[in-house]
Amino acid sequence: MDVRIYADNAATTKLDKAAFEAMTTWFLEEYGNASQPYAFARKPKKALADARATIAECIGALPEEIYFTSGGTESDNWVIKSSAFSAPDKRAMVTSAFEHHAVLHSCAAIERLGYPVAYMWPSDEGYITPEILEKYITDSTQLVSVMFANNEIGSVQPIRKLCETTHTHGALFHTDAVQAVGHIKIDVHELGVDFLSASAHKFNGPKGIGFLYIRKGVELPPYADGGAQENAHRAGTENVAAIVGMAAALKSNCDLLEQNQQHILSLERQLISRLDEIGVTYKRNGGDSRLPGLLSLSFPGKDGEAILHRTDLVGISISTGSACDSVNTEISHVLQAIRLDEDYAKGTIRISLGKNNTEEEVEQIAAALAKILLY
Ligand code: PLP
Repeated sequence: MDVRIYADNAATTKLDKAAFEAMTTWFLEEYGNASQPYAFARKPKKALADARATIAECIGALPEEIYFTSGGTESDNWVIKSSAFSAPDKRAMVTSAFEHHAVLHSCAAIERLGYPVAYMWPSDEGYITPEILEKYITDSTQLVSVMFANNEIGSVQPIRKLCETTHTHGALFHTDAVQAVGHIKIDVHELGVDFLSASAHKFNGPKGIGFLYIRKGVELPPYADGGAQENAHRAGTENVAAIVGMAAALKSNCDLLEQNQQHILSLERQLISRLDEIGVTYKRNGGDSRLPGLLSLSFPGKDGEAILHRTDLVGISISTGSACDSVNTEISHVLQAIRLDEDYAKGTIRISLGKNNTEEEVEQIAAALAKILLY
């Protein structure tokens, strides 16, 4: 197959070349264990400190508020499971019904241990508003967890307001910002969040590395016990190369944030206008406040799975829903949570454009969709 058009950037992204190049030294030459006291450990130790400072700067945090993890899944598990054990008098948790499974399955795990979890239903457009949160939060709520941007429909949540409501009730606020970090401007101190999860492979960094922001002064019990790494909160020898790659990728995305956004939004408009020209009936999910480039499109009477396979045959990678759900042909929990009509839900695809996509690729995607949808 000659053509390869990657339009599934919400599943993962291409590693930036500069990030890749920044990593090689730490595999091949400076491979010392950053925790050791000798001179050979000095450079890796400094690399970790520099990466932590770079990441902190990109999200408006302090370096000591950044904890390296293996990615979004681990960061989500850490916050939810450790929060459950942190306050014996406040055991309840509130989250939304359309979170990623890293959050939902962590919540299910603590429910099995007897901790109550309330699941908020979003609006039909895909938003959790402070008014919705007010209906679920109580004075025994310990943690509220609402994702920054939904990975299937792209709706960006009103995080600052949700945070304010949460704090009014004396609870802490976590956001799974895996889809948002490196793509939209985030300042954790301005938002007021207590915890934020991020994953490098979603912002052109390497896979298997991420971080958790923990607001200074907030005590979260450790996730992994062992050595003293990460302020004795997440034990295990640090993956210096991956951490350096993550920081380089995030810095590059944040430095070019507006430029990338403009490019991606222009591709998005191009695709939408081509779809309108085809004249096929469709609905775009996710309301008005969305992640740039993420298009959740529902074609009534069509089969999303079949569209995915037919685009795949011509070398185009898209998704039907969440990538983590691609073996599952059931209507996704996200589309169920926004109460999307079954006929539309079955005909839903997700196209997620990224900074590396081009106008020509968008033309090819539109042409492929026209063939598939009209015949
Ligand atoms: N949270 C969201 C919103 C995601 O989209 C994903 C990945 O699809 C994750 C968490 C899991 O992140 P990771 O792949 O780094 O474990």
